[in-house]
Amino acid sequence: MTPPPTTVPTVTLSDGEQIPQLGFGVFQVPPRDTADVTTRALLAGYRHIDTASAYRNEAGVGQAVHAAGLQRDDVYITTKCFNDDHGFDQAKRALRASLDRLETDHVDLYLIHWPVPSTDKYVDTWKAFVELQQEGLTRSIGVSNFQPAHLDRIIAETGVTPAVNQIELHPYFQQAGLRRDHADLGIVTEAWSPLAQGRVLDEPAITAIAEAHGKSAGQVVIRWHLQLGNVVFPKSVTQERIEQNFDVFDFHLSADEMAAIDALDGGGRIGPDPDTFVRP
Ligand code: NDP
Repeated sequence: MTPPPTTVPTVTLSDGEQIPQLGFGVFQVPPRDTADVTTRALLAGYRHIDTASAYRNEAGVGQAVHAAGLQRDDVYITTKCFNDDHGFDQAKRALRASLDRLETDHVDLYLIHWPVPSTDKYVDTWKAFVELQQEGLTRSIGVSNFQPAHLDRIIAETGVTPAVNQIELHPYFQQAGLRRDHADLGIVTEAWSPLAQGRVLDEPAITAIAEAHGKSAGQVVIRWHLQLGNVVFPKSVTQERIEQNFDVFDFHLSADEMAAIDALDGGGRIGPDPDTFVRP
């Protein structure tokens, strides 16, 4: 496979590792299609794939990375430990099972997918993550959907701060307070459902900016994330969108344009509430 046409900026994590700021998400990509869709993403230039055991498509991601003939270090792979794999021993087994499905000896980033406070096992799970990183099975460790109280607790009880927190974040739900907490703690913000699963794309403030730049609404929203400093991995199974979502490095939003998108905040979550979410 030829090198990517575009150099994606990287963000440095607190552990010194580098993560490509733009990646490709495979949530809701059907398992049988995942190898093909991921191959098309790699061909378009993406070198960062965000999957999870709960998506049931890690095997397709692994197949695509192998078939591409890329060096393992050329692709950044994130996967996640799901809710029924919480607990010290269970989490350790869960990563090994993910590595088998991905056909690799390590991932770049392993995340606790949800805190599941009702089972109260996320601290033990985090202790397992600290060891998994020391064992070299994952280069970096982080969390997803953690609220401030969950972050404070794992840091207080282990002394180890997650490298990232992957949270729902899009123009309708901007999480400014949590982003500030992340900045204070040295945690990189990853934005999931960055396009609000398409719901923000007809918003007149966004389509007007898109028209002014000769870009699509999706490209404008991805650009907004990148300029905020978020790590972002839009999902698409559509060839034109896969390519379009990667073609976001030849324009820049002005401060006024950023502010116009900032003003759309307030629509609330489209996904589950992390304080109560237990299962999909
Ligand atoms: P996104 O915000 O990325 O939106 C995906 C939807 O938008 C799809 O329906 C897609 O359609 C459509 N779309 C994509 N690009 C465009 C475009 N340029 N123009 C118009 N429509 C477009 O939603 P996701 O929920 O998939 O989030 C992205 C990733 O975030 C996931 O794949 C996953 O990796 C991660 N995630 C993590 C969660 C967590 O709990 N940690 C929860 C949810 C997501 P189509 O595919 O038909 O082209």
